[in-house]
Amino acid sequence: MTTKEFEKEKKIIENIKIIKEKIKNAAKKANRNFEEIKLMAVTKTVSPKYVNVAIENGVNLLGENKAQELKEKYEHYLKKDVEIHFIGHLQTNKVKDVVKLVNCIESVDSLKLLETISKFSAKENKIMNVLLEINIGEEETKFGFKPSEILEKIDFISKIPNVKVKGLMSIPPRKNVKDYFEQMRAIYIDISNKKIDNVDMDFLSMGTSDDFIKAIEYGANIVRIGRFLFGER
Ligand SMILES: *Cc1c(COP(=O)(O)O)cnc(C)c1O
Repeated sequence: MTTKEFEKEKKIIENIKIIKEKIKNAAKKANRNFEEIKLMAVTKTVSPKYVNVAIENGVNLLGENKAQELKEKYEHYLKKDVEIHFIGHLQTNKVKDVVKLVNCIESVDSLKLLETISKFSAKENKIMNVLLEINIGEEETKFGFKPSEILEKIDFISKIPNVKVKGLMSIPPRKNVKDYFEQMRAIYIDISNKKIDNVDMDFLSMGTSDDFIKAIEYGANIVRIGRFLFGER
């Protein structure tokens, strides 16, 4: 191993400690149990070697956002009690591969995608866990269900076979982010209160390197962290 690689590994291990400490403090401030908050390591562009450093140092949830990259890297990951969630925009022609490799698809941004996931999960004899992605800022450049349509669609969604809704995910606008976190929490609670069969609001996935502390304040229990953990891309 070169000095540079060694330094990078050391930095990743340090970063995990710092992030966990920050999660703990944010949880405490919000009167929440830090153990209910999952740290997801977002692996895009990071070589499996370094992802494995994170896994060996206690990270047990990975976030992948490209189907091709996932396929290439998957076999190189340590298979150590680690879950993989898909978090990128997923084209329907890639669903088949992704369904085989991940524990949850967090970025379900349309009914069409959900129905395709249902079809391929059935072929695999699986029930795929999914989160519904909400385009909370209603941005044209982003994917996801509109905040106004999700409550109308949730009953229909709950009846789609071979998929299980486990929560919500969002990539809010950077500006005024806490307003969006707050809106996400409100939708999450609304759906939760409807107590729909086959819909569990277990996970609220929001917050990245820049804003995970704020996200925890607003109820996030999966925080998705890339740069803060592995360094700038
Ligand atoms: C890249 C990415 C993240 C992590 O962002 P960082 O700024 O690197 O922490 C989180 N969620 C999604 C969907 C991403 O694509």
